[in-house]
This record gives sequence, C-alpha cells and structure tokens, in this order.
Amino acid sequence: MSDIEYKIHCGTPMVATIMFSGAEYYCVICGETQGIFGPAETVPETQELIDGAERNDKLFKQAAGDLIPMGAMFPNCEQCRKEQHGNHASQEDLKKSDEAHKLLANGILREPQNATN
Ligand SMILES: [Zn+2]
Ligand SMILES: [Zn+2]
Repeated sequence: MSDIEYKIHCGTPMVATIMFSGAEYYCVICGETQGIFGPAETVPETQELIDGAERNDKLFKQAAGDLIPMGAMFPNCEQCRKEQHGNHASQEDLKKSDEAHKLLANGILREPQNATN
C-alpha cells in the first residue's frame, strides 16, 4: 500500500499544475482550480485513481499546450530576462493562449448539455 493521496473533484483526480498562480490543482471536468489547501476531497491511491490521474494529466497537457501562464518567464526566451512572457509574446501566441485559457476555464471534459452559459 502506498500513502499517496489524490484530490478528487467531480469524481475524478485533479491535475497538479503550475499554470495558475495560487491554484495548484485543476479539475478537467468542470475547470475548477484549487490550492493545496483547497476543499477538494483527498483520498488514498487506488489503481482506478492512478489511471484516471494519468488520463487527466494527458488531457490537461494537450489543452494547456499553448497557455502562457500569468507572470511566466521562460528560461529559453531572451526577452523574458526583463519582463514576463505575456508582455512580448506575438499576437498569434496570445490568441492561442487565450483560447487554451477559455477551454480550461470551462473544463476540458465538460458535457456539452451541462454548459448552460
Ligand atoms: Zn470538478
Ligand atoms: Zn519571453
């Protein structure tokens, strides 16, 4: 037995991420973000949770691929030595980041019929 624990939201493990400032966990179903001490239920590891967490992680990486996190400074970007990347990214990159942000905010796996707004 392992003592690894998972944060559960909408019945599925939340993804651990550094993409959002002040929120280290993300729910792929509803888009909820929470910090380490957020109210999400914490449960011990099971094989089902391991599989779910792996799937959620992949989904998140795909969806967040173009996201430029707030205040991000990339080590391989020359201009990032002076200011955050969002200040000098190209319009196209910012648009892609914006789209990724919207997708993430709505929840990657949200059922279309549940999206009432
Ligand atoms: Zn959720
Ligand atoms: Zn940069």
